[in-house]
Amino acid sequence: MPELPEIYNISEQLNNELVGLKVSEVIIHQEKSINSKIDAFTNNLLNQEIKVVTSHGKWIIITFKSNSRLLINLGMGGDLLYTADIPTKKHQAVIKFNNDYLLSFRFWWFGYIHFVSATETHEMTKKLGIDLIRDDITKEEFKKLFTNRKGSLKSFLLNQKNIAGIGNYYIHDILYNAKIKPSKKIPDLSSRKLGNLYVTIKEEFINSISKRGANYELDIYNNKGEFKADKVAYKEGESCRCGTTIKKMKTGSTSSYYCPKCQK
Ligand SMILES: [Zn+2]
Repeated sequence: MPELPEIYNISEQLNNELVGLKVSEVIIHQEKSINSKIDAFTNNLLNQEIKVVTSHGKWIIITFKSNSRLLINLGMGGDLLYTADIPTKKHQAVIKFNNDYLLSFRFWWFGYIHFVSATETHEMTKKLGIDLIRDDITKEEFKKLFTNRKGSLKSFLLNQKNIAGIGNYYIHDILYNAKIKPSKKIPDLSSRKLGNLYVTIKEEFINSISKRGANYELDIYNNKGEFKADKVAYKEGESCRCGTTIKKMKTGSTSSYYCPKCQK
């Protein structure tokens, strides 16, 4: 499942390729991925010229010159490929451009391609929390997010309404790098720990972005990234750098991997 680094990488690649191009053809095979009837969706998109492509958390945002937008979420994963040929593999949608290249969407589970006009707001993205790479958020502003918040830190971080873009792949090593145990409750965290957390999230994401994302996710050219979460994530029973055995615990509905010695 792509998280902030993969989506950031894809949106930057799309920005390099698509700016100035116009939509020339739209093919939708899965109507439930879009937010209107196929005819209306197609009419809205045709001849729109791309102004800029950016991202917020796990959403890709294509903005047209008309200031209408296409909001894309790959859900549990999938391929969003930029290619000259319509894929032979099963796919849910194709958007073709006036340079005869196209974007093909193939969702593994479920994804969204939503068209939003310049005057409309988009319910699914308007409540998203901060994007720690795109937004200019200081350490102090970050710490303020936790004021008067209760409950576990891990669920807070995974909730897209607080911080957008962290998912089940990056969370383990982020907490390891911040030296925080996954079961930690927010009121028990010192200001210094929250400051460390701000730094480690940004470092983890910047590091992965510099390696073009996780080594199991594809970019728009069908290439995998080179980043691997290798501190404690999915390493139950293996040794931490400190020599202690990495453990797995249940935290809410998900599992957490951690080092009992390094993380307090
Ligand atoms: Zn350790």
